[in-house]
Parts: sequence; structure tokens; C-alpha cells
Amino acid sequence: MSSPYQRIILKLSGESFAPPGERGISMQEVLHIASQTARARALGVQIGIVIGGGNILRGAQFTSGNSHIQEATGHYMGMLATVINGLALQDALESLQVETRLMTAIKMDGVAEPFIRRRADRHLDKGRIVILAGGTGAPFVTTDTAAAQKALELGCDVLMKATRVDGVYSDDPEKNPHAVFYDKLTYNDVREKNLRVMDPTAIAHCMEHNLPILVFNYRTDGNIERAVRGEPLGTRVSA
Ligand code: UDP
Repeated sequence: MSSPYQRIILKLSGESFAPPGERGISMQEVLHIASQTARARALGVQIGIVIGGGNILRGAQFTSGNSHIQEATGHYMGMLATVINGLALQDALESLQVETRLMTAIKMDGVAEPFIRRRADRHLDKGRIVILAGGTGAPFVTTDTAAAQKALELGCDVLMKATRVDGVYSDDPEKNPHAVFYDKLTYNDVREKNLRVMDPTAIAHCMEHNLPILVFNYRTDGNIERAVRGEPLGTRVSA
């Protein structure tokens, strides 16, 4: 196998499904991600994908006092948004003849299988790409935390977070041209420098269980495959 990894979690943000700067779902973008992922799968690596929902909505947008939606309700809406993305990704992958299973953290009979760890484990062993939607199933966290939890539950070697920039910078590189790029960081660096890698709960899970994180740019064609091959790219966060 031409990869140092046996099993990985790939965290895709919802924005990777929308045209740059827009919201919603563009099947062109979804197919771009799906074809890269299919090529990575062909390397023999087992892949679970945790999908976000920010291209549709995030619970935090309902925190303002004049919203008639309670914040917790907003988070459940966000979790359901991830299922919409999961369905789109499933069809995109299957149109490329990749066998998939969509599993949800919130039970949704008739739409997807419920997430059951041993079942997900078996799908992965059989070479299916398992799309994990619904986040953790609980409000007030993000799909980054779900990605860390699923990576730990499923015994993954690494959590790969696909983003629209090349990795982790000292500041937002889209706003600050002097932002410094880091190719390697420790979990403590991330916490002490307050770097935007993943949400703090996700970092804490990874740190506690020594799960490496790779942050890289999904927009460069072939990068998902390169990351899975273990080629040097992006930012690696470890102990
Ligand atoms: N969410 C949640 N619990 C979870 C995962 C997600 O409540 O375990 C909600 C939360 O409101 C979040 C939204 O679903 O903002 C969409 O997920 P996220 O923001 O992580 O999507 P991404 O930024 O990756 O597109």
C-alpha cells in the first residue's frame, strides 16, 4: 500500500461544497472533492469522512437576542445540514463507482444508517467510504469535535482536516499577507498561540489521545491523495 496510514478520518467543512464565497451546494465542487477522495481510496486506505454543515447553516448564527430560534435548536438545524451534505457527497462518490455508507449520529430511518461503531468499523474494513453526518448528535459543539471523536472511536491513524488555505498560519492569511505559515506544531503551540486549527474541544481530544492532525488545502487538485500518501504538505500537529 502506498500510504503510511491504514485508516483515516477526513474532515470536510461544508464550505468545501459551496462555490468560493457563496453558500449552498454546488455539485461541481462536491464532485471535485469526491473524485480526489476516490483516488485516495484507491491507494488502499480506509476512509471515514466527517462532513460539516456551515455552507447551509451554523447554530451559532442564532445567538443574537432577537432571533426567534433558540441556540440549541439552531445547533440541531446545523446537524441536519450535515446530513444534506452527506447525501450529496454519497451520490457524488457513488457516481464514481465508489461504494459508500452514510451513517448519522441522529437516527434518521429511511435516509441513512444510524452510527454504530462496530458497523462503521466493518464497512471500513470492507473498503467502503463511510460518510459520518450529524456531528456528535449533541448541540453546542462543531463537526471538528465529531471528527476527533470518530477518529478515536474508529482507531484512525490521523485526522485530516481539509481547508481552503494551505495549513495553519499565525493569522488569517486571507486577511493578513504577513501571516506566517507553520509546517509543524505541537498541541501546546496550538493552545498557547490560540491558533485556529480546530475547535478547542477537538484539540483537547486529539492531545489527550495523541492523535496527529494534518491541516491541508483541498482546493489544490490531488492534495487529498498527496496527504493520504504521506507526502509533505500542510501543517502537522502532534505531541
Ligand atoms: N453541530 C452541533 N453538534 C455537532 C456538530 C455540529 O450542534 O456535533 C452544529 C453546529 O451548530 C455547527 C453546525 O452543526 O455550527 C454545522 O457544523 P460545523 O459548523 O462544524 O460545519 P463546518 O464549519 O465544518 O462546515
